[in-house]
Amino acid sequence: MTPREALAAELLQAADAARQNSYSPYSHFAVGAALRGKSGRIYTGCNVECAAYPAGCCAERAAFLRAVSEGECSFTEIAIAGGPAGEPPSSLCPPCGICRQVMREFCGPEFRILLTDGRKTLEYSLEELLPLSFGPENLGGDCHEEL
Ligand SMILES: [Zn+2]
Repeated sequence: MTPREALAAELLQAADAARQNSYSPYSHFAVGAALRGKSGRIYTGCNVECAAYPAGCCAERAAFLRAVSEGECSFTEIAIAGGPAGEPPSSLCPPCGICRQVMREFCGPEFRILLTDGRKTLEYSLEELLPLSFGPENLGGDCHEEL
């Protein structure tokens, strides 16, 4: 296993562990995410649903909100694992559009997104999943350099 593969495996394992905490009594679709900060620290999140559906939060955004609230604002990669609650992932769980936009707020085009179906892992760049995107620099600044 190469050092890169070991880092990916560590992140995927953290995403799977976070998935165990999913609160998804309505969809029964459990998602876990593990976000690696440039410091090397890993921040995890799971999806949290609410009876008033729009008040819920995706695992990916939960991980970002956790990291930013703890003072880290620059990131290198995120791993995402999801599927029916109580079962191992059986298909890829790509991030929703809102989560892609939140990634864009804090990450550059090279930010890596690791998706697993339980057998294989596919890796994408943020630019691949959110091409021609709108971000902080469209409002006159590049806050990535300031963070
Ligand atoms: Zn989402």
